[in-house]
Amino acid sequence: MLKLQHFPSAIPQRPMGHYAHIVLLRETDSYALFQTDGELNTARVRAGQQEQELITRLTMFKRKQTTPERLVGRELLRHYGLISPDAYDDKAKVTADKAGRPICDYNVRFCMQCPDCITYGFAIGDSGAEKSKVFSDTAYSLTAYEQSHEAFTLNAPYESGSMSRAGVVTSRINEQDHVRPQTLFPAIVTIRDATSALFFYVLNNLLRTRRYGAQTTRTGTMSNHLVAIVLADGEISSNLRITQALFDALKRQDAIAPAQPVDPQAALSELGTLLPNLLAEQNGPVVEQLLQGAELSTFLAQLPLNKSDEGLRELLASAMRDSKAYYSAYLEKKGKK
Ligand SMILES: [Zn+2]
Repeated sequence: MLKLQHFPSAIPQRPMGHYAHIVLLRETDSYALFQTDGELNTARVRAGQQEQELITRLTMFKRKQTTPERLVGRELLRHYGLISPDAYDDKAKVTADKAGRPICDYNVRFCMQCPDCITYGFAIGDSGAEKSKVFSDTAYSLTAYEQSHEAFTLNAPYESGSMSRAGVVTSRINEQDHVRPQTLFPAIVTIRDATSALFFYVLNNLLRTRRYGAQTTRTGTMSNHLVAIVLADGEISSNLRITQALFDALKRQDAIAPAQPVDPQAALSELGTLLPNLLAEQNGPVVEQLLQGAELSTFLAQLPLNKSDEGLRELLASAMRDSKAYYSAYLEKKGKK
């Protein structure tokens, strides 16, 4: 199904051009916040490749996408006992726990050997850095900001329920823009030179992550609909380009109505239809495989990691073997002085 021979059997030290692209349609399932300094992030861009008018789109920066996905993967690594649940103690400087599991403390002390460290990369002051093998870029909302957001007034009333006391109105009123549910963000996640196990590790994180955006337990859920997996010898289209191409295609079918959310099923099927053309149009990479539609669904259903916790445990263990092998081959010596 998926041509596993495309993936290297070990991560090479230098870039070797084994690209695997995961094409997604991200959909908000509730009100979300993708913001910096209290404001939603937006960009002024062309509506489509053909539709020339400029519109303002909501943007989801790279880190807003990858950070929650990393954390989901790390949670699983701890759940299945592959990395230690312990935090790093700066005084003791112990790097593994009693059971021999590496202590990997996110942004505090990266262990440099787990699947998370090796695939998504890390930087530890002057003691070393590993470049990410997962590339993602800002994602843009399919529809314009005006129809994709809603301003909420968040009140913090007094106990009586009123906003004023003794004639003085509380200043505890806050207006906050939220991304509307069913807002769509086409996105490509690219993984370079990962082994098949590490590729599946990243894919699993994408499929399992639900919460994105500002840290809150009440909002910000999203679904990542998988559209295709593309194996190639280079990078394919950008997020903005596929968003604009999808906008054009849906506009031609009158599937984009002002003030209405776009039907996710219509967008999914259209994105699947236009993807082969987008890949063929490019002067870019040679596509080895485009896995989509019914074939992709069958492939996903058969993945051991989707069948049982045993399947997932095996996948995580293989991913750990591959990341450790890379650590032993290229990173471990640098640490010893
Ligand atoms: Zn680690």
